[in-house]
Amino acid sequence: MRATVLHKAGDVRFEELPDPKILAPTDAVIRLAATCVCGSDLWPYRGIQAMPGPMPMGHEYCGIVEDVGRDVTSVKPGQFVIGSFFASDNTCPHCHAGYQTSCEHREYVTGAQAPKLRVPLADGTLVATPDVPADDLVPGLLATSDVFGTGWFAADAANVKPGATVAVVGDGAVGLMATLSAKQLGAERIIVMSRHEARQQLAREYGATDIVAERGAEGIARIKELTRGIGADAVLECVGTQESMQQAIGVARPGGYVSYVGVPHGVSLDGQQLFFAHVHLHGGPAPVRRFLPHLVDLVWNRTVDPGKVFDLRLPLAQVAEGYRAMDERRAIKALLQP
Ligand SMILES: [Zn+2]
Ligand SMILES: [Zn+2]
Repeated sequence: MRATVLHKAGDVRFEELPDPKILAPTDAVIRLAATCVCGSDLWPYRGIQAMPGPMPMGHEYCGIVEDVGRDVTSVKPGQFVIGSFFASDNTCPHCHAGYQTSCEHREYVTGAQAPKLRVPLADGTLVATPDVPADDLVPGLLATSDVFGTGWFAADAANVKPGATVAVVGDGAVGLMATLSAKQLGAERIIVMSRHEARQQLAREYGATDIVAERGAEGIARIKELTRGIGADAVLECVGTQESMQQAIGVARPGGYVSYVGVPHGVSLDGQQLFFAHVHLHGGPAPVRRFLPHLVDLVWNRTVDPGKVFDLRLPLAQVAEGYRAMDERRAIKALLQP
């Protein structure tokens, strides 16, 4: 098959790779209905994250099961399934606590920007839909695999409750999904920090009540002003830079919650600042598997449409253009069709 390999920064190739096959009795192989480029794929693409060598890319996936290992019992060939970027057994103590991305047997899933993908620990990892979905549901279902699940975790980890005042730092795909999730969890006011018009519009569609374009000290002051000097109950940090983290901690009210779901790059926190901020911090790689059944339901029943976050759709063979468009911020998120 032909699939996506990142050779070095800026060098994405669509090239011949061996077809994935069952390696362990707990594996499944799926034929992808759709896949996409992740904001986190841009870290190595931009040369910010070191690479050991050429890497097969892609970790967001949904599609039809083609083959399963002899120990797999919960999914079978022909079913439409979705899984997260970490495979998990869903039985160990960390999985039971709802932290499947810290599973004792977790395995990173990569190579999904391809026609076919091997998924380890299929029983614990994959969630099947009630039936094969209509085509227009596929983007929304794909979104649950990572970006919607991660946005949901941002809202959950920041303790978003009905009536809450929420601030979202970041207007990328995850920030937009965090906005949608906060709205679903009952937030009354959702302030989104964004400077980008198309993204502001989608943020409003997903539930943003206020947009703040200022950043740094000015951004903090503006949110304080909007909240009568109090700050936000919940701040959802969806970027992963020093600036965004500081912003997030700066706008939380004393006793408030800050979640952080963007992979941090070059972030260091000042102990004294944290101490006097009086905030709860909770983040990490989103345990998407915990939320998958619920999020798949929300999409399946057409309660929400997270699929709108894909504002660029390309044939898989044009994956390099998907990376370029996201890198240059011409696209929020690129969906790839095998
Ligand atoms: Zn991702
Ligand atoms: Zn586990």
